[in-house]
Amino acid sequence: MLSERTRKNNQNTHNFRYFPWGNILTAHCYEEGCSLEEGDIALEICAQDDPVFDRTAKTASFDGLAAFNAETGLNLSEDDIVYYRWNPELETDVNTYFITITGQGNYGDTNLIYWNITKAANTGTVTIKGTDEEGRKVYDGKAVEPVLTLPEELPANGPAVTYKYWKKMGSYWSGHGDIAPKDAGKYKVEIYIPESANYNSRTIEYEFEILQRPVTITPIA
Ligand SMILES: [Zn+2]
Repeated sequence: MLSERTRKNNQNTHNFRYFPWGNILTAHCYEEGCSLEEGDIALEICAQDDPVFDRTAKTASFDGLAAFNAETGLNLSEDDIVYYRWNPELETDVNTYFITITGQGNYGDTNLIYWNITKAANTGTVTIKGTDEEGRKVYDGKAVEPVLTLPEELPANGPAVTYKYWKKMGSYWSGHGDIAPKDAGKYKVEIYIPESANYNSRTIEYEFEILQRPVTITPIA
């Protein structure tokens, strides 16, 4: 990881070796009487702590780049920040990365920082087919059908979405199992959404009501 580079500029002759440590790449000059404080000039890689997936590009940046380039004579840019995926098979930005600097080749192996882009909270929503805005529908003799809207598809071979129903009995909820109700009453459904490529698993609850169908009496003419 050590290498040398001698560089002349207007004020000094520097004789640098480069030391990557954490998210800092330090150039240390071994010339006596170097103009740099402690003989060091540092470049910092800045990356937001464990950003959450949100479909926007996540990138790291440099702090101190202009001064570092000026002293060392390197010509680093943010294009020289490279992201290696810990699991290259994942077809998503959600991954662990290690970030290195490349492009100049004279400071060796700079495995600088580990970085996680984490899954987002699942924003899935549920309604019951045929209900109004308050979650009510009139009895039609058919079992209710939940309609799930997810931010992305679930993995084909992963765990399934599960549904659990509860019926309101006075002041408490009585378990109704996984059988979608059809009879009049107040219910809630608890839906477990498994995790997907970019989103965490989540359980959501939705309350709905099946109203009794009004009886229509047709008078005999
Ligand atoms: Zn120097």
